[in-house]
Amino acid sequence: MQRTKASGEIFDIVVGLLLVVTAIAAFFIPLALGVSWPIAVAAFVAFLALVVLVGVPLLYNRLGPWYDGRRRERDDSYFFNGCWSGRTARHRWMNRRLPNDPRCRLCLVPFGGVGRITRVQPSRKNPNFCMACFETAPLGGSDMEVGVLFADIRGFTSWCEGRAPEEVERVLNRFYAVSASVLAERDAIIDKMVGDEVMALFLPAFPSLREKACDVMVQSAGEILRRLGAGEQMLPVGVGVNFGVARVGNVGDGSVKDFTAVGDVVNTAARLQGCAQPGQIVMSDAVYERLGDQYPGATPLSITVKGKADSVPVHVLAAHP
Ligand SMILES: [Zn+2]
Repeated sequence: MQRTKASGEIFDIVVGLLLVVTAIAAFFIPLALGVSWPIAVAAFVAFLALVVLVGVPLLYNRLGPWYDGRRRERDDSYFFNGCWSGRTARHRWMNRRLPNDPRCRLCLVPFGGVGRITRVQPSRKNPNFCMACFETAPLGGSDMEVGVLFADIRGFTSWCEGRAPEEVERVLNRFYAVSASVLAERDAIIDKMVGDEVMALFLPAFPSLREKACDVMVQSAGEILRRLGAGEQMLPVGVGVNFGVARVGNVGDGSVKDFTAVGDVVNTAARLQGCAQPGQIVMSDAVYERLGDQYPGATPLSITVKGKADSVPVHVLAAHP
């Protein structure tokens, strides 16, 4: 890990030095060639414009991903080591100095100001992160701890029967909008929105989550249930949450790839959600143990889930009894 960190920092220093040397050259070479001051200043301004309009996009859209890809070929955990060590934020040291907020919470690249000019795109997985952090990350994954949340509308298939498609669409839109808003606010990766189901990941690798990942995940689940359980049209939503080691990263081939998590932790989370009644959060014991004594009202149960020989110990929390 140390080697990765050092290598990333050397890359930062080389890019930084190159920029400084080129900026000085852009100013002094015209002077050395005997041109007047105004022309030297104009050359310098033109250089700065070139850096912003061509250099920065090239750095972020080509050079950065190319370098990341090379590193990733040798070291699968490179991207996440960067998150852990804080290098991802330092790696693009220039980002935090570039105007303007809002910016990617992971690599600090701005969405406003320069980011608008250089067409920095928010990620589809969470608009608080940039696309480069996930969608354009190289293929491959790392085994790491992750919190997995599944939420779905209970009994949706039978509810849909005999209803107009517009009504179904309206209900789904509300479910997606509320879930996405709650999850994005709390730095979750919104992995999938399929049918009447939402899947989200909470990565302790992210600086804003760390050891609070399970806490934040259960709070998010409670908030989704609270918001959807209120108002005129109450939605019968159930949530399942699990925590453990899964394979996290981009899976797929070529342009068809997706940042996701795979493994038993994910499958079990989906099964737990299947056992949740409307308004309930079904937590695996791996999650419950990490919450301390915050939820003394949670009911301990042992449930049988499809595909598992042994029953699974869980705690069930009624978000709005
Ligand atoms: Zn980013």
